[in-house]
Amino acid sequence: MRPVDLQVIGSDLAIKWEGGHESYIPLTLLRSACPCASCKGEMDIFGNLYKGEVKPLKQGAVTLASFGAVGGYGIQPVWADGHSSGIFTHDYLLRLAANPTTSPSK
Ligand SMILES: [Zn+2]
Repeated sequence: MRPVDLQVIGSDLAIKWEGGHESYIPLTLLRSACPCASCKGEMDIFGNLYKGEVKPLKQGAVTLASFGAVGGYGIQPVWADGHSSGIFTHDYLLRLAANPTTSPSK
């Protein structure tokens, strides 16, 4: 399943998927689930999301400046604090959206 539209609505990233399904992922969750090496130390699997200490985020860390598509299989968010190395595959986004309880703020 691929996203056909992405936009920030309030504090969520709203993703409209092929077929009409919509996902809403809180930006705080999206940032805390960043899969890049500097956030996770290594390429991680989804099951390890609960582990590790939550680092305090810089101002702008949960503000999405922009995002780009990555090769048709994922998106690469650019955060307002300049962080942009995390690549979220579509499958990973779907799993994040399906597990809203992992959000630290809701
Ligand atoms: Zn990261």
